Amino acid sequence: MAYLGNPTRTMAVLEKHGFHFQKKYGQNFLIDTHILEKIIDAAEITKDDFVLEIGPGIGTMTQYLCEAAREVMAVEIDQNLIPVLQDTLSEYDNVTVLNEDILKVDIRRIAEEKNHGKPIKVVANLPYYITTPIIMGLFESHVPLASITVMVQKEVADRMQVGPGTKDYGALSLAVQYFADPEVVCIVPPTCFVPQPKVASSVIRLTCHEKPPVDITDEAFLFKVIRASFNQRRKTLANGLNNAPTIPVSREEIAATIEELGFSPSVRGETLSLQEFAVLSEALKKKVK
Ligand code: SAM
Repeated sequence: MAYLGNPTRTMAVLEKHGFHFQKKYGQNFLIDTHILEKIIDAAEITKDDFVLEIGPGIGTMTQYLCEAAREVMAVEIDQNLIPVLQDTLSEYDNVTVLNEDILKVDIRRIAEEKNHGKPIKVVANLPYYITTPIIMGLFESHVPLASITVMVQKEVADRMQVGPGTKDYGALSLAVQYFADPEVVCIVPPTCFVPQPKVASSVIRLTCHEKPPVDITDEAFLFKVIRASFNQRRKTLANGLNNAPTIPVSREEIAATIEELGFSPSVRGETLSLQEFAVLSEALKKKVK
């Protein structure tokens, strides 16, 4: 039975193993069983699923995952947590703990070996210092994914789900929405963790698209256009694109393309939808020198 998840039991495990938190690894451990249950419910895990957990900590959520899933792989960077995990996960035979940096793990290979290349589910209370590289790494390396259900900083979850014309809208919103359908599950206050983070958190579920919602011939170029358009937020779209070495299109051609697509010369990137970026990217691609 999953027994971790409340403050007393978490503290007892930490004391038993003489564990000291490492700030550099973004270690904020969950100590609220209601939130754990919400995460597991939102992830809709069944006994058919292979689940990848990023940063299991002392194994609190891992215990819940082992009970819900067919098989779990938990990737933890901190070697001091490995003996703790051997202890807290000793009663489960469907879990493998990998002592690695998730950013260096070949997750596609794991999905191939452990799930015959079928879409996997990712569940995590993410280390906040590398939230974006982890999520973008999963998407851009085309790991077969069913969903990603993760705890992130509230501000980051807000950025993932907003649309054009809002202050939080940017490259992350567009990238996430290209690959998935984002939905905030709940907001989590700092009191649900030990030690407490300085900011509020949100659980967000990203349900991955089988096929992107826009037609595009060059995905990498689309993301170059999006990044260039948001690099200098207060500048016009034309200036953002002109100043980007990744977009080898002349100033005149950029201006002409913006006009041909019916946008004002002073349009800003933050007002364009994903569909509009897709059309812009296809048009610019044809004019690459
Ligand atoms: N899942 C646990 C929980 O909910 O209590 C711990 C979550 S804590 C926010 C983040 C975890 O990710 C820590 O255990 C930390 O050591 C681990 N971590 C940090 N950077 C990592 C990386 N690059 N690769 C794998 N794990 C990492």
